[in-house]
Amino acid sequence: MRYSKMLLPTLKEDPAEAEVISHKLMLRSGMIRKLAKGIYSCLPLAQRVFNKVQQIIREEMERAGAQEVTLPGVQPSDIWKESGRWEMYGKELLRFKDRNNRDFCLGPTHEEVVTDLIRREIRSYRQLPLNLFQIQTKFRDEIRPRFGLMRCREFVMKDAYSFDVDEDAAQESYNRMFDAYIRIFERCGLDFRAVEADTGTIGGSFSHEFMVLADSGEDAIVSCDSCNYAANIEKAEVKPPDTDIDNETLSRMKEARKVLTPGKKTVEEVTDFLKIKPDRLVKTLIYETDKEAVAVLVRGDHEVNEIKLRNLIDCNDLSLAGDDLIIKTTHAPVGFSGPIGLDIRIITDNAVSQMCDFVTGGNEKDTHLINVNLGDFKVDRYADLRVITNEDPCPRCGGKLSFKRGIEVGHVFKLGKKYSEALGATYLNARGREESIIMGCYGIGVGRTIAAAIEQNHDSNGIIFPTSIAPFQVMVLPINMDKSEVRDKSEALYISLKDEGYDVLIDDRDESPGVKFKDADLIGIPIRLTLSKKTSKDDMVELKVRRTQEVIMVKKDDLLDEIQKYLQYS
Ligand code: ATP
Ligand code: MG
Repeated sequence: MRYSKMLLPTLKEDPAEAEVISHKLMLRSGMIRKLAKGIYSCLPLAQRVFNKVQQIIREEMERAGAQEVTLPGVQPSDIWKESGRWEMYGKELLRFKDRNNRDFCLGPTHEEVVTDLIRREIRSYRQLPLNLFQIQTKFRDEIRPRFGLMRCREFVMKDAYSFDVDEDAAQESYNRMFDAYIRIFERCGLDFRAVEADTGTIGGSFSHEFMVLADSGEDAIVSCDSCNYAANIEKAEVKPPDTDIDNETLSRMKEARKVLTPGKKTVEEVTDFLKIKPDRLVKTLIYETDKEAVAVLVRGDHEVNEIKLRNLIDCNDLSLAGDDLIIKTTHAPVGFSGPIGLDIRIITDNAVSQMCDFVTGGNEKDTHLINVNLGDFKVDRYADLRVITNEDPCPRCGGKLSFKRGIEVGHVFKLGKKYSEALGATYLNARGREESIIMGCYGIGVGRTIAAAIEQNHDSNGIIFPTSIAPFQVMVLPINMDKSEVRDKSEALYISLKDEGYDVLIDDRDESPGVKFKDADLIGIPIRLTLSKKTSKDDMVELKVRRTQEVIMVKKDDLLDEIQKYLQYS
């Protein structure tokens, strides 16, 4: 490819709209341009990277036995009503009507479409297992699109769906996809972790997320230093306390007593005022679901994990109650809620079961209670309800946990019978009995993977593409283009490298060396070959390795060997 002919509009300055480095660099290197909020055009340089990543994905999906299909992006509401997600999905699902006033949506994911296909085409156990994948555009009307291709509204996803006869076979399909994902992200040159994850709106029983480690990541993850446990913070289990309250503590229990705490509402205000540590206080939070109000108790220094809470109480909607509901439920102003005397369900985090003589709100203005104990109110249920902290041990082995940030680039789910039962996707088993198909689904955000690769591979001058996904492997950069000798030798080198099968870009623009070097660093091609008056006289080429900044002079005859050597290591 010739730079002079390529639509490669690089920018000198950081665009103001971009917050994270990958977004800045993708705009500056002329990879993407915004059309509307969360909707981007992908320019030729980016398209080449997309093609490389998609090729890796295709190869690994096919190696794992999946077959490529293309499913429709526009989907009728009927199948979404059958799965129950037409109501559940909320505003991320972009809905519209056709000319006949029928409801449709733009596909944010394809469980319904693929299950509809399978229920029509699969009859017998002999046709299973089956795994179908596609690489296709999805639309999700994200509440907060940001960070360029990392969280946009229209994006390219590889999604795959497996269909099996029973749990064991489904587990095998899951494992095969899990292994394929490891290979894909390794081949893309990423530093990543597979972590246990919540299943979110897709549903199902079990899932892993593939997280690229980066400080700009939206997700927090924990991993154990001693065993292989790793989880999204949203999911990370807290090891239950392994002792009951000892007798000595029990014997010290006192009688609950009111104290005045005028205007003191937050944990900090109350504990400062009473001169106690936050772990001596129990917070009472009132939550509202689509069915009821519930009180949730956690220790003062702990935070409620709303995903655990949502999974525990099985509801569609869950949010902290507004002031009106708090006042109605506790008969007190906001800031003084406590468990004693409440007539709603009380759900309590496990850590509270270890506490005695603690402080709670008094359900009365400017009042808290001290010396409260568990016998003073009725707990409906104890559960793991809180966000794991860096004081908690590994829930599996008790080892030390490390906290990191990650970008979720892939997600594998065990769906079980969730969609096959809802849509009636069945097969006849060997004894002629009708059974529901067991499903799994597996997604990779292609654009997000590219953004994550840039988050992990850049320096102050620009992108440093891992070779496997670089838009070009080698860049030929002639300076002193006015000298015919330099021009001719550069052209000859460009042609010979292309003939050798390399992806090559030649910067044949009539620009100053400074501009060319800056752009070369910005677009991050692994190997730069510079030809000048001097090098062509000596029949040498200057080879620069983008990742290490190493510059060496190479004899023309050794060039192919050197390129090969450096491509392997960068
Ligand atoms: P998130 O929690 O980040 O919203 P998700 O759990 O909704 O992601 P999935 O439904 O599992 O995502 O989708 C599969 C993959 O698609 C994700 O792992 C991610 O790489 C990609 N993806 C999801 N939403 C977006 C988006 N808005 N922009 C770009 N890629 C996305
Ligand atoms: Mg999402």
